[in-house]
Formats: sequence, structure tokens, C-alpha cells
Amino acid sequence: MKSTADYLSTQQEAARTALALIQRQGETTAAALWALVGSSWQCLATLGAADSLPSAQALSAGRLPGPDGAALPLVLHGDTLGWLVWRGRIADTADAVLALLAGHLHSASLHSAQSQSRVMNETLLEISQLPGECNTLDEMLPKLHRLLMRLMDASNFYIALFDEQGGQLYYPFYADQQDPAPPSPEAVFSKEQTTRSLTAWLMRMGKPLVLTRQRLLEVCQQEQLVLEGPLPELWMGVPLTNVSNGVIGAAVLQFYANQAPCTSAEQALFLFVTRHIAYALDRMLYRSQLERQVWLRTCELEGVNARLRSEISDRQRAERFQDVLFRIADLSNTSLSLEAFLAGVHRLLMELVAGRNCQVALYDMNSDMLSFPYCADDFQQVSQTRRPGRGLVEQVLHSGRPLLLDRSPAQLNPTEESTAPPMCSWLGVPLYCGHELLGVLSVHSYQNDVIYSYRDQEVLEFVANNIGTALARVRAMHDLQNAYAELEERVRERTSELDAVNAQLEFDSLHDPLTKLPNRNYFAKTLRRAWDSYLSGNGARFSVIFIDLDRFKLVNDTLGHLAGDHLLFEAGARIRSCLRHYDFLARLGGDEFAILLFGTETLDGCEMIARRIVSEFERPVILAGREVFSTASVGMVLADRDHYQKAEELLRDADHAMYCTKQQGRQGYTVFNHQLRINQADQLALESELRRALDAEDQLQPYFQPFIDARSGELVGFESLVRWRHPQRGLISPALFLPVAEESGLITRVDRYMINAACRQLRQWLDAGLVGSNIALHLNLSSANFHDPELVSWVRGIIEGYQLPAAILHLEITESALIDVPEIAATVMHALHQLGVKLALDDFGTGYSALSYLHRYRFDVLKIDQSFVFDLDRKEESVAIVRAILALAQALGLDVVAEGVETAAQLSRLQEMGCAKLQGYYFATPSPAETIDWERLARFVQEFRRAA
Ligand code: C2E
Ligand code: CA
Ligand code: CA
Repeated sequence: MKSTADYLSTQQEAARTALALIQRQGETTAAALWALVGSSWQCLATLGAADSLPSAQALSAGRLPGPDGAALPLVLHGDTLGWLVWRGRIADTADAVLALLAGHLHSASLHSAQSQSRVMNETLLEISQLPGECNTLDEMLPKLHRLLMRLMDASNFYIALFDEQGGQLYYPFYADQQDPAPPSPEAVFSKEQTTRSLTAWLMRMGKPLVLTRQRLLEVCQQEQLVLEGPLPELWMGVPLTNVSNGVIGAAVLQFYANQAPCTSAEQALFLFVTRHIAYALDRMLYRSQLERQVWLRTCELEGVNARLRSEISDRQRAERFQDVLFRIADLSNTSLSLEAFLAGVHRLLMELVAGRNCQVALYDMNSDMLSFPYCADDFQQVSQTRRPGRGLVEQVLHSGRPLLLDRSPAQLNPTEESTAPPMCSWLGVPLYCGHELLGVLSVHSYQNDVIYSYRDQEVLEFVANNIGTALARVRAMHDLQNAYAELEERVRERTSELDAVNAQLEFDSLHDPLTKLPNRNYFAKTLRRAWDSYLSGNGARFSVIFIDLDRFKLVNDTLGHLAGDHLLFEAGARIRSCLRHYDFLARLGGDEFAILLFGTETLDGCEMIARRIVSEFERPVILAGREVFSTASVGMVLADRDHYQKAEELLRDADHAMYCTKQQGRQGYTVFNHQLRINQADQLALESELRRALDAEDQLQPYFQPFIDARSGELVGFESLVRWRHPQRGLISPALFLPVAEESGLITRVDRYMINAACRQLRQWLDAGLVGSNIALHLNLSSANFHDPELVSWVRGIIEGYQLPAAILHLEITESALIDVPEIAATVMHALHQLGVKLALDDFGTGYSALSYLHRYRFDVLKIDQSFVFDLDRKEESVAIVRAILALAQALGLDVVAEGVETAAQLSRLQEMGCAKLQGYYFATPSPAETIDWERLARFVQEFRRAA
């Protein structure tokens, strides 16, 4: 202790000064000055041969010096602080010096005690601070020991602590110079042998013990304690208690013989200090216990935390899986192709596994082929299909189980020729849909740091489980799409077929199937368009040409429909050849054609084309090996906004002009002009006038033209022909007003009027005896009458009314009547026959007559048309036709009348050919009954006889 040393040296110095003073004044030979330093005597200073002088201990024990020596105590306030011993004579002032020294020593000792207590206080403070400064007990105890050493000689000191959990005593600090190894831990309160340690006993006793060597031996013997190691001179033990007075351990201080003996002050100090040591230890232990608890709690919490974290990551993983599952399901619904689906699955897979290189293999059992609809590889391209071999995919397919390969180059790189780097890991799992093995999903890696694990296998299996079904669905969808595409293709084909059919239908609806020319419908549309654009000023002026083939019906009926069709076809081609390419030609129906001629400002161009058309038909057409002549009658009209309101009127007038051509003897053209238009207007006026004429008695009048027997020249009959004696216009020919009558429906009234008038006349002739009952009266009957249900009864009424033999009456019917109403005609004709009336077929051979009519309807008389008669002496063809008709009539047992006999040549020709009856201007023109030259008629008999 430094303060004690300082204190000692101060005392020594003071003692030396006191001795020097005493020696200077006396004759002292030897002297020594002793003082109580702390609790022990110290010799502070000596003079001369002081060794032989008695010690302070001896003086205190009462052993005074010998006769030559003397001793004086240093006394202060009755306390002996020290001794001066000497030999020889002492100075007189020694008392005063000693009194001074005693005062000095006293104050020094006070000072020392004060500084000692300061040190102790500081040390105790530091001890109490130790638990706060040190982290562990092991760090704290050496420091504690060093602090204790500052207060006393604690070279042999140890601390034992009781570990409650283990029920054992252990020694966290142990310093023993005689026996350095600390004892092994031992139980404290057990009755076992191990409890027989002094320290444990001390703790059981629970109070401090200070044992001298002797006492120690006695206690050990008495308590049957084992004292290990050397025996100390002094053994001091203090139980350490905590705040609640529980014993936590013990602090033991030992003194061996080689040490300075422990003073009683030191003993008291030790007992005092151990209390503070106990506090510090308790605090430290409490703190470390607290820390331990915190640590335990922390560990516990960390464990919980870790568990939670792993739970969360498990849940997150499950959620990620679930998410991927949904997205795969979604992909399988939205992917347009299998490839797109698998690429999407791969993208999702990469979120879960390091699978840059991924491949899907599908196995088709029927063809025993492996296909690879998806392959993503950093280095190589896999063939689209191949036969199964010995690859890794095949291994998975064979086993139906996952295959996980880490580094094993031989297995991973079976092909030598591959240019890719060696694979580092391969993982393949089977793809199932239900129990059906569809193929293999695999990933592989070329990187050393990507090696697949069992966990990756789990992920891959999970994905595979979910894509198996989706794959089946995508495949089904794919098939369906293919089927749809096929269906669509078929629909497209069918649609285009339909379009073609439609186009054909449309073409057909607008075209004539025979000639392929536009039909009436198409013509009407085109005409309207042309008219509209002409009216609006955008289109050119145009004209309409109407063409009717003459005698087409004859061809059709005599040579058959095939020939007729051929003729129409040829006619179409011939007309076309006369036109410019932009003219519009159509077949209106039957033997009628129409043309739109564009860009015709005047009629000159039209007339040229019309002439060309007419002349085209002068060449014969070869039909069934025969030359046939079929001329054309043409009518035309120029579009004119001043005279027309509607397009149809143009066609009507062209038709009318054509009709005029027909009336003028066919084969030619007529331009619908001003005159015709006036005529047309006239016709309207004519119609109303005709009505009035029918009501009047004297306007319509029968003219009679006789028939002469070709052999005898006798009068055999009359034909009644209508004449209109118009009050203003004079006599009008039937050619002019009969069409008006036909069109207006007045024709039946005209016919009845005429039949009535003629029969009345006949009755008069019969009555007058001008004619016999063998005469024939021919009456013209229009086809319109066949629609009159009253006709037959009306005729009967006439016959009965005029009391005429029915066979006198011959009704002349043109074929047009038969063509127009074939069925009714047959019925009506049959009924008329029943009456006994005869029927004649008028204008036979004009192109309309058909031989078939002769078979179909029962006629009694044929009238050869005057056109044949007219050509008899000019055209051999006509001769042939007349001859054929005559032969036919004979074969059928029909009477024949040849009309239009004008010349003697015609007469003789017909007589030669054996024609039975003749009619014509040669004998008589039609004339009113009053002006019939009966005498002239009678003369033909002689004439004929003469000529014969
Ligand atoms: P159709 O029945 O063929 O009458 C014969 C026509 O030839 C008559 O003309 C007659 O005048 C004319 N004719 C007679 N002999 C000759 C001749 O040698 N040379 C020439 N070039 N002509 C001759 P018409 O009287 O003008 O009658 C024309 C047509 O009118 C008739 O042709 C007949 O179809 C029709 N027709 C006349 N009267 C009536 C009638 O009361 N009722 C009906 N429905 N039609 C009638
Ligand atoms: Ca006639
Ligand atoms: Ca006739």
C-alpha cells in the first residue's frame, strides 16, 4: 500500500532527526526508535550498535533493557506510540524531543489512517462499479482481485459460487500460491461425500469464519471435513449473500507462513470488504442471469421468428405456385397455338426454376413418334420430330417418373457429335393428363452454378401436373381450330362456288340461255338507263331497233325446235355482226330481237345498220342440211325527248314500226317517223269512231269475194271481208282498222256484226235463188272469239235465226288464233263442228302455220296464203311449197282454196297442180252484195271449158 510506505518514510525521517538531536547533546553509544505503524512495531531509526538493544515487542511485553541500557516510551494522551531504547548517557532534552516526536508520530498516524480510509473508500467505490464496467464474471473477478490486493495481501484468495441449477459449487476465481489448481465443482447441500469441503461447510454455516491453523485442524476433524492442499496459518471465509440474504457463494482468504501475518485490522477489513464483494457479485450474477434470460428469450423469439419466416415463405411459395397455376390455366384458354401456350408456360416456369433451357417432348403412340413442340436452348436446336431412342426423355417416358441428374457427364451428354457444351444438370418430369402419359417436360443447365435439386423437381412436377391437363385442352383447341380452319376453307370454297352459281344465276336472269344474248329484262333496264342519261344530258342520243324474223314459226314447226333454235342462234350472230361493239343487242323472246344503237344523232347511221341487218338475212341459213330463208322485218325509232316521256315508249314504237314493215310485206325496215306517229294518233281516234260505227247500222259492211271451182269454173262460195264506210274518211281497209279493233277488244263485236250481216245477205241470196245451198260462205273469225263462252250458242242462234244449213258456214281461223289459245281453240272448234259448221285454216304457210295443227285440230279447208300464189310463176320454192300443201291436204282429205290468184298464169299453174278452189282479183275483187257481177261470175264456166 503506497500511502503506508509514504507514511513510514515520513516517520523514519522524523525519528532519525530526533535521534540525531539526542546524540548531539548526550553521550549515547547506541539507540533505536520504535513506533507502532498500523498494528505492528517498526524500528524507525537506529544509532550505533543498536542490534543488541531490546525490541519494541519485548519492551511492550514488559522486558525492560539491562543495567547499561535504558528505555523511554513515546506517550501521547496516555497511549504508548513508541519506544526509545539506548545505551550510555542520554541528553537532558531527550524527554522534550520524545514528546515532540510523539506528537509528530501521532499526527502522521492520523494522516495515514485518513489516507488509508480514503483508499478503502475509493476501492470500495471501484468494486461497486465493477459490475457496470465488466461484461462477464470472468472479466470482473481478476479486476476485483487486483482491487482487493490494494487493501491487503490477498495473494491467496478465491471465490466460490453456488450454481443453483446444477446444485453445485464452482470456483470462478481461484488464486492459491501453494496450490494453484482450483478444486473441481462440488455439491454444497448434499449429504454425499462430495459435500465435505470447507467452503461448502462455510456456506452451510452461513456466517464468517476466521480460523487459525490450530483451529482449522480442530474444525476439520470435528466436522469431518476434507482440507485439500497445504495448511494455512490463517483461514478466513465469508459467505456471500444476495439482497434477500440468500447464500450465493463464498469468498476465502488464506495466509501461509511465508506471508506477513494478518493483522486484526486486516481481518476486520476483509470481513467488511466481502460484503461489498457480495453486492457486486450479486449484481453481476443478477445481470448475467438477466442477460441469460434475455438471451434465452431472444433465442426463443428468434426460433419463433424463424418458424414464422419459414411459414411465410412456405405460404408465399404456395401462393406463387397458385398464381402460376392460374396463369397456366389462363394461358391454356387464351393461347392461340400450342407453341404460344408452351412458350408462356416456359416464361412462368422461369419464375420458379432456373430453367432457361427448357424443352417439351410429346409422344404420339399411334405413329410412335416423339415431337418437340417447344424447345428453348442456348446452344442447340432440337429436331421437330424423331423416333424414340435412348435419350433422357425416353428414360422418363419409360419409367413414367421424374429423372434428376446432376454432374455426371456420361449420362448428360450421350451424343458425341453435339456441338453444345456439356450439360451440368438435367431434370425431366412426365406430363400426364389423367392417366395418359403425354410426354416430358424438362429443363437443363450448362452452368456450373445451376444444378437442379429435389426442390426444383417438386416445382417442375407441380408445373407439369398442371400443364398436362392444360396441354390436352390446348391440343383439343388446336385440333378444333384446325377443324374450324378446314371448315372455313370449305365454306370459302362453297361460297365461291355459290358466288359462281349466283353470278351464273344473275347472268341467266339477265340473259337468254339459247343465244346468250341479254334478255328482255336486261334490255329494259339498259334502255331505261340510256334514256335517263340521255334525258339528263349526260348520255348520247340513241335509237332502238326492233327485229322480227319472218316465217320463223314455219321453220320451227316444219323443221323442229332444234332447227328453230339453230336459226335463232344464227340470227343473233348475224345481227351482232352488223353492229359496233358498244351497241346493245338483246333477244326479247321468240323471234324478236332489239338493239340499242348509241351515239346516233340522226337516223342515217341507224338506217345503214338496219339495211345491213336486212341484207344479212337474204343469205340462206343451212338447217339440217337444208337451205332456209328467214328474212327479217325491222322497225326503228330515234330517242327524242320532245315526243317521249318513258323509255318503254321507244320500244313500243320500234315494235310498231316493225309491224308496219310486216304489213308492208315483210323483209325491210321502217323508221318510226312523224307520219307513223300521226297514224298512231289516228288509231286512237279510230277506235272511238269504230265503237260508234258498230252501233250505227250502215258504216261496217261485208264485201264478198267469190271462190271459183278450179276445174269447172263454177261459183262455189264467197268470203265475207269487212269494209268500213267511214262518213268522213271514206272507205277504210281492214288492214288499217282491224289492228285497232284487235287491240281494243272490239274485234269480237266486229266479227259478230260481220257474220250476222253476211248470213243475212246469204239468206236473201238463197231466198232470191242467186245461190244454191251447196254454196260456201267463208267468215273470218279472230282468235279473240275463242275466249267468248257464248260464241257457239251465238253461232247456233245465227244458223237457226236465218235458217241456214250449218255446212254452208265456213269459219276462217288464222294460225295465230291457235298459237294464242291452243286449248280453248280445240274445245271451241270441237263444239262448232258439233253444230255442223265447217272450219278453214286461213293464210296457211305464212310461217305460222304448222303441219301439226292439221293433225291436232280438225279442219275442213286449207287456204293457201297468197304470198305463195304470188310467187308461183317466179320462185320454184313456192311451187314446191304449194305442191306439198296440196299433197298434204289430199292426204288428209281437206278442201283447198288458193288465195290471191291474179293472173292467168297463176290460174293455170294452180289448175295443173290440182288445186280445187281459187280466189283472187283474177275472178273478182271483194265487193258489196249489191254490186256483185253475177253474170261475170257465171261466165267463168265457159271460159274454163274453152281453155280446157
Ligand atoms: P284474208 O282473210 O286473207 O283475206 C284476203 C285478202 O286478200 C283480202 O284483203 C282481199 O281483198 C285480198 N285479196 C283477194 N284477192 C286478192 C288478189 O288477187 N290479190 C291481192 N293482192 N289481194 C287479194 P282485205 O279485204 O283487205 O282483208 C284483209 C284481211 O283482213 C283478211 O285477210 C282478213 O284476214 C281480214 N278480215 C277481213 N274481213 C274480216 C272480218 O270480217 N273479220 C275478220 N276477223 N277479219 C277480216
Ligand atoms: Ca280470210
Ligand atoms: Ca287469207
